[in-house]
Amino acid sequence: MREERVKRTKTVCTYCGVGCSFDVWTGGKGGDRHILKVEPGEGAANNISTCVKGKFGWDYVNSEDRLRKPLIRERSAEGDRFREASWDEALTLMAQRLTQIKAEHGPDAIGLISSSKCTNEESYLMQKLARAVVGTNNIDNCSRYCQSPATQGLFRTVGYGGDSGSISDIAQSGLVMIVGSNTAEAHPVLATRVKRAHKLHGQKLIVADLREHEMARRADIFFRPSPGTDIVWLSALSRWMFDNGHAKTEFLSQWVNGVEEYRKSLEPFTMEYAAKICKVPLETLEKIAHEVAATESMCILWAMGVTQHCGGSDTSTAISNLLLVTGNYMRPGTGAYPLRGHNNVQGASDFGSMPAYFPGYDKIADDEARERYEQGWGVKIPTAKGLDNHEMVDAIYEGRLKAMYLIGEDMLNADANANYVGGGFERLEFFVVQDIFFSETCRYADIVLPASPSLEKEGTFTSTERRFQRLYEVMEPLGESRPDWRIIQEVANRLGAKWNYSHPADVMHESAGLAPMFAGVTYDRLAGYKTLQWPVAVDGTDSPLLYTKEFHMQDGRAKLYPMEWIAPCETEGDEYDLHLNNGRLLEHFHEGNMTYRVPGIHAETPECFVEVSPELAKEQSLVTGQWVDLGSRYGQLRMQVLVTDRVSGKQLYLPLNSKEHPVNLLTGSYTDRATHTPAYKETPVKMTVL
Ligand code: SF4
Repeated sequence: MREERVKRTKTVCTYCGVGCSFDVWTGGKGGDRHILKVEPGEGAANNISTCVKGKFGWDYVNSEDRLRKPLIRERSAEGDRFREASWDEALTLMAQRLTQIKAEHGPDAIGLISSSKCTNEESYLMQKLARAVVGTNNIDNCSRYCQSPATQGLFRTVGYGGDSGSISDIAQSGLVMIVGSNTAEAHPVLATRVKRAHKLHGQKLIVADLREHEMARRADIFFRPSPGTDIVWLSALSRWMFDNGHAKTEFLSQWVNGVEEYRKSLEPFTMEYAAKICKVPLETLEKIAHEVAATESMCILWAMGVTQHCGGSDTSTAISNLLLVTGNYMRPGTGAYPLRGHNNVQGASDFGSMPAYFPGYDKIADDEARERYEQGWGVKIPTAKGLDNHEMVDAIYEGRLKAMYLIGEDMLNADANANYVGGGFERLEFFVVQDIFFSETCRYADIVLPASPSLEKEGTFTSTERRFQRLYEVMEPLGESRPDWRIIQEVANRLGAKWNYSHPADVMHESAGLAPMFAGVTYDRLAGYKTLQWPVAVDGTDSPLLYTKEFHMQDGRAKLYPMEWIAPCETEGDEYDLHLNNGRLLEHFHEGNMTYRVPGIHAETPECFVEVSPELAKEQSLVTGQWVDLGSRYGQLRMQVLVTDRVSGKQLYLPLNSKEHPVNLLTGSYTDRATHTPAYKETPVKMTVL
């Protein structure tokens, strides 16, 4: 009789940046790959909680659709097809083609994109592959699609791009302000902490959003600023604090530069101006101002409702400015909380998969940093900033980028203006995609490499609160799939490197030796449920609160950054008269590649829909279930209507999780001015009732 084994393995959830940890029990009659249960352990972020995705969202690992072998495109007059290949054949071809393209067009003709779903160690290796082996800084990751503007706003004002405190600190706050974040569905366990503090401990909650989601309904004050105008009311609040004697002048004189120049830039931002531009009643804005002035401690949470605009970085800056003006940094329960969407969107950037930064945010242009890496890696590193994701697509059209190596990202569905992105992929001379499923993007690839998801590998993730956590191998890789770090190493060696990492711990060890921010990060210090929050000193002292003795600026002082409001790039007009917003559903993760393959979860939300307000439904004689065509300047989508008072007036809302109804057929190519994050939230559409 076969022996039934049961195994318990600690892992970290991959469905959002909260970073819940739990034990996965596998085995029993179903065998080693059978998941018996997911049991929340002692995770620093979640304690004993999970949400529906973390608890039930894992059956995709055994999906029939998993890629099990490398695939190579075979071209023929009758039409291309993919055939299975050995690893040796696929990697040999990849090395030949990349070498040839580099010889003909130079290293900058090749672009690499790492993944916010991959581990820190994998992101480190991907950027090392780009810089040290290919010889280009054309390396980026999918934080370009979401949170780069938040990081930029914090770089400008306080120095580090991460959350300024820990998730558990939020409960100590007297006032939580949530701007452009559907926290209850996108970061559920973190939202539970806010709900508890609000309900049981009298914490005040103010929510600014276009849509009346769960947190909005719970809020003490909920208001709907016009799309793309958050910077105006945030700056008006700052001005009101100065004008009414509520700015924290002692804090400002001790810790903050640029006060006078900033105040001058606030001249236009009166409350009356904000009320007019944002279309929010003046009384509401004044009520908010009084609440902010009255509280001892405030933190602000924000997400893609802020960042995915042409002014995403500027609005993120305005948030940090307001926190500085009101003295809300340097104490638990205060500060900036940009909420990271992917599980490792923080780590992918932290570990240098960015065109202008090494791991730990040392600048490529910084001679000392570059020489440190050149010595460590034994190579010369290019000095010029590389291309970001957005620039890579444009560079393909311009004939400058000939080849791409993309891992862990269904870029066709994730990037804005999918038709444009797909057209770019078609123009590539050579394209390698590495993923766990045959995604929409794979259709354009020359080689598809089968990777292993988080349950099949070891490594670390860094959550939204800058927290390193270990994940352990729950089960062996399926079929011939391999962990990304092994594949990247093999690619590097086929291109002439001599890497010899036997475990991700070796990679972390190397990175900790090169990036001062991670100096004390070791696998011993991360064993089991142990965690560290960066920056981590050599002796292992970590940083639950980011700013205690100083800000991360050259002179230790923060900076108030002057403000200017620039209208959204695209607004509604006569033809495209409705504003389309988009975001997550509780049950699904991004484009749905993983969660749609979990039958229990998919059954909960089988159809995609567009939310329509009762007013608009009445005007157009629409009822729930009716079909409509949505059209933008960039594409078309046929959807079913859901009439709901979550949205109002001419606002529409579309979940971004559907492969059958990809919202990015409608979004355009405008981007945040500072970071090139697509302005997904600035999409005018027209609706035709069928
Ligand atoms: Fe996973 Fe986020 Fe849910 Fe936690 S809150 S279980 S990290 S999806």
